[in-house]
Amino acid sequence: MTTVRSVLGDLDPADLGVCDAHDHLFLRSQLLPGQELDDVAAAAAELAAFRVAGGQAVVQWTPYGMGRRATELPELARSSGVHLVAATGMHRAAHYDRLPELDSLAELFITELTQGIGTDGPRAGMIKVAGGFHGLDEHARRTMAAAAAAHHVTGAPIGVHHELGTAATEVLDLLCGQLEVPPSSVLLGHLNRFPDERIHRELARSGAFLAFDGPSRANAATDWRLLDVLVALAEAGHAEQLLLGGDTVTAAARSTADGPGMPFLLTNLRPRIEAALDRPTAELILRHNPARAFAADWKPMG
Ligand SMILES: [Zn+2]
Repeated sequence: MTTVRSVLGDLDPADLGVCDAHDHLFLRSQLLPGQELDDVAAAAAELAAFRVAGGQAVVQWTPYGMGRRATELPELARSSGVHLVAATGMHRAAHYDRLPELDSLAELFITELTQGIGTDGPRAGMIKVAGGFHGLDEHARRTMAAAAAAHHVTGAPIGVHHELGTAATEVLDLLCGQLEVPPSSVLLGHLNRFPDERIHRELARSGAFLAFDGPSRANAATDWRLLDVLVALAEAGHAEQLLLGGDTVTAAARSTADGPGMPFLLTNLRPRIEAALDRPTAELILRHNPARAFAADWKPMG
């Protein structure tokens, strides 16, 4: 049986509900000084606002070493009534002032997926990795090889940050071509930031999930293309591969600060998707596609 690995345990995918498929309650990066997401009360307020708007699940794509605050997540899930999924994995090298020295990245990812994060954190339910701008450097290739190895041992889905939406073709060649991860376990993120419809259709033909996000103030330049991009992919027959997330990466972008934050997905984007496509497609994108994207046939170990 496939399940979604939430911070409170494994869920029947049908119980995941309306899902923000790529977001952050906690995040710290040297690239975003002074904008750390590290306030537990603010995270709780954001989840409460998302719940009021009809949200039922949030997947936090914050990987290893970036202030995930994993031990806070189970209590936040309990108190908010919102399912939470945590991530293992690793971001671009530029986000770390010093890269952790680890014997085996794959072993770290596997431990976090099957036993838990740190000494008393919940298990991660996905692996986050990152490409570079129009290419993959040595760090990206090493991280993706480790993610693929961890996928083959655990079954975990792999979510990919694409720098400004680029290099997704190279990522697919590496992850699914050379490293033999099934495309149905790969979620290509931030594609809205490089709104080239030809590339999107080519990526969609692989069978991978295509994750769109925004707006989060740091990356708003292509927001006005989001609806056109979703409509084009849905009309080309790829509605069942589309995912949507808020990707709140700075404290200022929370709904309780300058916004728009997580509720915007449901208060603003959902009605626009319903108008541009239809209600069943909005339900696919927000409920049924995440249930399949994050479901895994978790291998029994740990
Ligand atoms: Zn993100």
